[in-house]
Amino acid sequence: MLTLDFLCPLPNGLHARPAWALKEQCSAWQSDIRFINHRLNTHADAKSSLALVSTGTLFNDSCSLQISGNDAEAARRALESYLQHHFIDSDSELPAAASPTAHPLPRSLSRLHPHLLTGNILATGIGCGGITLWRSDSLDRYRTLPASPEDMTRLEYGLAELADNLNQQLRLLGGESKTILSAHLSLIQDDEFASNIRRIMRDEKQGLAAAIVDNMEAICEKLRASSSDYLRERASDIRDISERLLHIVWPQYRNQEVLRLSRPSILVADDLTPSQFLSLDLSQLKGMILEKTGPTSHTLILARAASVPVLNGLSVADLSALEHTPAILDGQCGVLVLEPNEAVRGYYALARELADQRIACQTRDAAQTAFSRDGQRLEVAANIGSALEAPAAFSHGAEGIGLFRSEMLYMDRSAPPDEQEQFETYQQALLAAGDKPVIFRTMDIGGDKPLSYLNIPQEENPFLGYRAVRIYPEFAGLFRTQLRAILRAGAVGQARLMIPMVHSLDQILWVKNELQQVKAELQAEGARFAASLPLGIMVEVPSVCYIIDHFCDEVDFFSVGSNDMTQYLYAVDRNNPRVSPLYNPVTPSFLRMLRQIVTVAHRHGKWVGICGELGGETRYLPLLLGLELDELSMSGPRIPAVKSQLRQLDSRACRALADKACDCRSPEEIETLLRTFTPEEDARPLLAVENILFVDKPYRKEQVIQLLCGNLAVNGRTAHPLELEEDIWQREEIVTTGVGFGVAIPHTKSAWIHHSSISLARLPAQIDWESEMGDVELVIMLTLGEHEGINHVKVFSQLARKLVNKTFRQSLLAATDPEALHQLLNAELSL
Ligand code: PEP
Ligand code: MG
Repeated sequence: MLTLDFLCPLPNGLHARPAWALKEQCSAWQSDIRFINHRLNTHADAKSSLALVSTGTLFNDSCSLQISGNDAEAARRALESYLQHHFIDSDSELPAAASPTAHPLPRSLSRLHPHLLTGNILATGIGCGGITLWRSDSLDRYRTLPASPEDMTRLEYGLAELADNLNQQLRLLGGESKTILSAHLSLIQDDEFASNIRRIMRDEKQGLAAAIVDNMEAICEKLRASSSDYLRERASDIRDISERLLHIVWPQYRNQEVLRLSRPSILVADDLTPSQFLSLDLSQLKGMILEKTGPTSHTLILARAASVPVLNGLSVADLSALEHTPAILDGQCGVLVLEPNEAVRGYYALARELADQRIACQTRDAAQTAFSRDGQRLEVAANIGSALEAPAAFSHGAEGIGLFRSEMLYMDRSAPPDEQEQFETYQQALLAAGDKPVIFRTMDIGGDKPLSYLNIPQEENPFLGYRAVRIYPEFAGLFRTQLRAILRAGAVGQARLMIPMVHSLDQILWVKNELQQVKAELQAEGARFAASLPLGIMVEVPSVCYIIDHFCDEVDFFSVGSNDMTQYLYAVDRNNPRVSPLYNPVTPSFLRMLRQIVTVAHRHGKWVGICGELGGETRYLPLLLGLELDELSMSGPRIPAVKSQLRQLDSRACRALADKACDCRSPEEIETLLRTFTPEEDARPLLAVENILFVDKPYRKEQVIQLLCGNLAVNGRTAHPLELEEDIWQREEIVTTGVGFGVAIPHTKSAWIHHSSISLARLPAQIDWESEMGDVELVIMLTLGEHEGINHVKVFSQLARKLVNKTFRQSLLAATDPEALHQLLNAELSL
């Protein structure tokens, strides 16, 4: 046996893509090749990518390949070269720029050795539940099909047909899919598979359908009980071929089942339609892994609004063996944590507590009107899909509804809502809004939101096809019903009307004509309605930008739909993860386009908002403020953070920044500009009582550091607690900061802290600080800004000197509340 030792060079660890690439390399050889991670002592067949992923291998882990067989020497040479020169490239996937970026895994978590799978973040947050696979087809109904004399023939026919289908697919496919389908083919050609089904029919007097299901369950049960990942993984293959067999023999029974969640769940699926998402019990939905979903699909937009964290980049096939496994979906670091132990659960409990506190602080201020630091007004509104979401949006601090996606009302049903139902819904939203505006976008049907009852034939390019305003003339009755409902509801509040996907003046003239007629109708009926409703259009089609001046003659406002605009401006499908690295609304071309729209609209006295996902991205807020947008509309939970950041920005500095960004030559240059853009903030004292914590839980060292850094984020002193934590650990791991006498003084100079701070944690008992100087019950942490002068460092050395003094130490340890500690330190140190 030959051994090849190496350190894992992959910054993101051995996730699905590099695992697949390594497996491909290993599979080229006849030798058996085992992968070993020495840190975790995990082993895997190197020819199975799922097995490789499940080793939990992280950057710099010490690993080996053990190769045994006839061609072992040649394999060793080739693999050595691959690992040295090419392995790292397999990790070079660009994150989708519009998606939230993953934080590095904090050491307070990685030191607990969690079992992790790495994905890409689509929606942030943390959720905990059992893994639940979305299978669109339940097989129970097949059990009721009676036995028939034709069953034997049916079985032979079904198997032959399935083999034929698989062979056809195999000719078209490559890579992983090919491997899986080849495995399926060999399974159905395995004599035992068919003979087991025959035996069940014969011995248990079952019909064919029930025998297929029973056989499947018996095999799956055995496989799931196996300790081998590889074998457990085969359960889904057995299910897959059994299901396909049933569909071939009884195509008439194939149907879509409604998914019900009966316990807290992390839902794993290829994709979900918005209506499938809407049909879920959201109280049980703790997270989703959607393999084939892009960053602005409507399902994702709904998930963000409901604060459900979402990842992609993990395949359903890889996760199918993990059904019911307890897991935590971490939409901050972009990982799925499997079977978390108590320490890992403790990390997440604290992470959630800190996140909740941070949100609570921002929400407290969110009710204030949104202004920049220098008094520039920017309206911050919410996007909603139903009237039920309106109260929550306003409690997040929405100053209006910038986008009511009315089409959601038409989905997940077999006929459109009638005028009265719509009227009641719109009125409910307006009543929740009080005197704040509600922008009703008229039905945006089509694209990824088809409606079966309209019988619009399937199209090859639905996003470029028959959708939104384009279908209104054919369904004029439906459109008028909606206009009537909005106009009538508008009598009780500040309703505004917005038309999606407009690209020509003709379309808006047609809409205005319809509006006139509907108003005349309502007038004639003596109905109560809003006679003058501001009218706007969504700016989603690039050509509109060149004739904004003409539109200014016809409408009152504009709202840029950055989700669609991004896909149309660059011709990049918004739902296709393969092109998601190109789907980035923050490029020089996009920003210049926004600047042009705003300039022309303002010249004509009209306002411009953004209601696509870009509007809620805090990291791009300086650019949006600098481009002089008038309104941003976003999912409700994002509002507090946006308002809080806005209060720190100076609009003049942001205008200069936006000008520079428009002159950049690449998105990367813009990102660099943003990284170096630091808003000026009011000075804060080094020591503040809110950073002194009396802890009542038996935290370990990792959690104490997590808590102190997280608390600085709660108090607005850092926006990057995890990165700050990493800087603390960098020093901590070189030399531990226990100084004896029960005290530790972790410290760092970091780019991630806005306001230099001293934080304290008084612990309920001494804990292990991994220090020769003994255990620790008081932690004094110093986090200094990168450009901090020497003075604060002096304070720290002063503190270190004072700690040698017994009386000072005793009074520090005797203090019973944060105020007392604060006073004591203030008196003793020259702050
Ligand atoms: C958009 O395109 O940005 C938008 C807000 O509309 P939707 O996402 O519903 O298509
Ligand atoms: Mg749109």
